[in-house]
Amino acid sequence: MADVTWSEPANTSTALLLLGRGSDPASERGVDCPGDLPAPSDPDLVARAAAAKAALGDRVFVLGHHYQRDEVIQFADVTGDSFKLAREAAARPSAEFIVFCGVHFMAESADILTDSSQKVILPDLAAGCSMADMAVLGQVQTAWEHFEDLGIADEIVPVTYMNSSADIKGFVGRTKGVVCTSSNAKRALTWSFEQGSKVFFLPDQHLGRNTAVLDMGFDLEDCVLYDPHKPNGGLTDDQLRNARMILWRGHCSVHGRFTIDSVREVRERVPGVNVLVHPECRHDVVRAADQVGSTEYIIKALEAAPAGSSWAVGTELNLVRRMALAHPDKQIMFLDRTVCYCSTMNRIDLPHLVWALEELVAGRVPNQITVDEDTAHHARVALDQMLALP
Ligand code: SF4
Repeated sequence: MADVTWSEPANTSTALLLLGRGSDPASERGVDCPGDLPAPSDPDLVARAAAAKAALGDRVFVLGHHYQRDEVIQFADVTGDSFKLAREAAARPSAEFIVFCGVHFMAESADILTDSSQKVILPDLAAGCSMADMAVLGQVQTAWEHFEDLGIADEIVPVTYMNSSADIKGFVGRTKGVVCTSSNAKRALTWSFEQGSKVFFLPDQHLGRNTAVLDMGFDLEDCVLYDPHKPNGGLTDDQLRNARMILWRGHCSVHGRFTIDSVREVRERVPGVNVLVHPECRHDVVRAADQVGSTEYIIKALEAAPAGSSWAVGTELNLVRRMALAHPDKQIMFLDRTVCYCSTMNRIDLPHLVWALEELVAGRVPNQITVDEDTAHHARVALDQMLALP
């Protein structure tokens, strides 16, 4: 019988590592769990998590992103979006361990904003973010060098979405830019256009385009898409010179799946439905929606909605399900007919949380996320600039 050989997938931004087959240090894609995970079927998981958390007491602070599973969220000391959680961690200097139930870039931000004595732990290192992975520092530096060669770098202010790696935030800090969230993207762009005549927006093209066109009054023609996999981003020198918004070709694999057909279909199926979407959705979807806003905005809008109203929500499914269960007097549904969770968010499950907490109880620190001091310093500059936005 002929030998069957298997080789690792090419190390591109789309290749997936097989779990347990090593790591990819150039991206946020993860590695195998270095310990013995409890079985998901273990009936004692809830009791074990509660016991480990109680044993650690105030030494541990558990953060839960809104897109996490219910089985994990029940152990969160606080829930929120990525920036709120990083700030909550920084406001708890007494907590020796920050267990971040979210994805890798969020844990990095928590490490950047917390005291150096605090240790940030990600229960599963395979919990990355496909959007953050779409902008790698070397690619961004290559783009910037091209802008310098063209003589336009001095006019450009780089803006990176919170959903980016620490390396990218550090780059933006070094080049006098700013971090933004989906709540303050308009303020970040307004400030940026006071500093320069162009914005280089990373890594989410949709948030950049939606904010520029729908909130700032730019035309679609003012925006160009920089593809890091093509020479010079696939753009001519004139296109780059004339653009106001240079959008990085990145997107969220969850929010990017909603289409204009999803909106049409739900409007036909549910008369009077309100379509509420996140600005990471495609431009035509956001245009067709009734309301658009950040995760926190979506939660508040659903809480404030009158009883009996109907909502089709274009954001991550764990959150939509939780909101539907919390508000049985309102009809809250997922915008797409095909259900889809954020697969990397879902990497954090109860077995991984139990494992991480029990390791801490045993005096071992598992899966600590650290950002080197130089990168952290420059990333903090970009984050502080965001906090200082008028
Ligand atoms: S929902 Fe999208 S942006 Fe958020 S972690 Fe998942 S892939 Fe990344």
